[in-house]
Amino acid sequence: MQNDFKDLLKKYGAPLYVYDANIISKKYNEFFQAFDVKNLDIHYACKALSNLSILSFLNSLGAKLDCVSVQEVQLGIKAGFLPADIMFTPNGIGEAEYDQAIALGVNINADNLEMVEYLGKTYQGLKLCIRINPHLLGGGNSKISVGHIDSKFGISIHQMPLLQRLANKYGICINGVHVHTGSDILDGDIFIRAAELILQAAEGFENLEYIDFGSGFKVAYKPDDYFTNIEKFGKKFSEVFNDFCQKKGKDFTLKFEPGKFLVSEAGSFLTSVNVVKQTTACTFVHIDSGFNHLIRPMFYDAYHEIENISNPKGDKKLYNVVGYICESDTFANDRILPEVKKGDILRFKNAGAYCYSMSSNYNSRYRPAEVLIKDGNSFLIRKRETIEDLISGQMLINF
Ligand code: PLP
Repeated sequence: MQNDFKDLLKKYGAPLYVYDANIISKKYNEFFQAFDVKNLDIHYACKALSNLSILSFLNSLGAKLDCVSVQEVQLGIKAGFLPADIMFTPNGIGEAEYDQAIALGVNINADNLEMVEYLGKTYQGLKLCIRINPHLLGGGNSKISVGHIDSKFGISIHQMPLLQRLANKYGICINGVHVHTGSDILDGDIFIRAAELILQAAEGFENLEYIDFGSGFKVAYKPDDYFTNIEKFGKKFSEVFNDFCQKKGKDFTLKFEPGKFLVSEAGSFLTSVNVVKQTTACTFVHIDSGFNHLIRPMFYDAYHEIENISNPKGDKKLYNVVGYICESDTFANDRILPEVKKGDILRFKNAGAYCYSMSSNYNSRYRPAEVLIKDGNSFLIRKRETIEDLISGQMLINF
């Protein structure tokens, strides 16, 4: 694979995002096979990596889609998803965006009572899914922990009677309930605890068809890192879900919305080294990228494993790997790597989820190209940006 990466860089230039379709399909199958329930829908979380070709590939595997903006819905439909297979799970958006999503025919999820009331008044007999906040602390850090009592997400589990009154008043058909407590969940039992609370809250909804448990499955970012054992989890969770179905005498659909689990490992970010700078304190490796391309280390203190694919067997040395953005822009501090020289290629692993999709043009730099590898063939799925991309949409008023 090292040589393949080098060939790809020769062909497409650096920096470059590369995704392996075979890994995505392996992860999808692992997820699908982990659950033993009658009806299972896997809605890929579009926000993790929203390139049209990636969406199209997941659609071809049988995945459905989870979208948090109407633009993601538009991308999903363009990539071939049926509106009926799309869950729309936004947070705190305005009425106009809901109107657009409803017009596109997707499944609607509401995460506040004010919007439930608006939707009920405006759309007679609307089928609606409700995002419930179970007041559980899950998620790997404060930015991605979203199911606790102080979180802005969802309708409090204590507000179900009020929700029920609104539903009765406006004839809303609550056909789904949704919960998502965060990303990178370290304790898999959070799902079971959430399930107990949500299934109890769902008891009152007579028209219930599905329960959507969101996501948060942890992937390993470094050797020996904790990860969700999906097989074990699926077995345990299926039992809880099947008991609920049996008790209610109905085969509900179980839904999940994995993002990271499906695409994180499939992605690599390839960069080349501009400068190796020795100071009196440390050695900096400056790469031809920055947090404009990969923000997770700066934003979440996330760890990405780095490989020096130009010199994998070199003597180990200690480096600070930094970017070119004009403020502190650190990918890794005190990282041991095989000796790095100017021009070497560094590969960031786990660059499939929340990497390209969180990139920007900060410092007026171009976003990189994206390439998809499938069965040994490479496909350019997004061109590197150019100055035309940077200025398109701008009006130059000459003063
Ligand atoms: N569903 C919703 C509503 C989300 O907000 C997210 C991301 O936080 C996901 C699914 C995907 O989560 P993950 O990438 O951890 O699988």
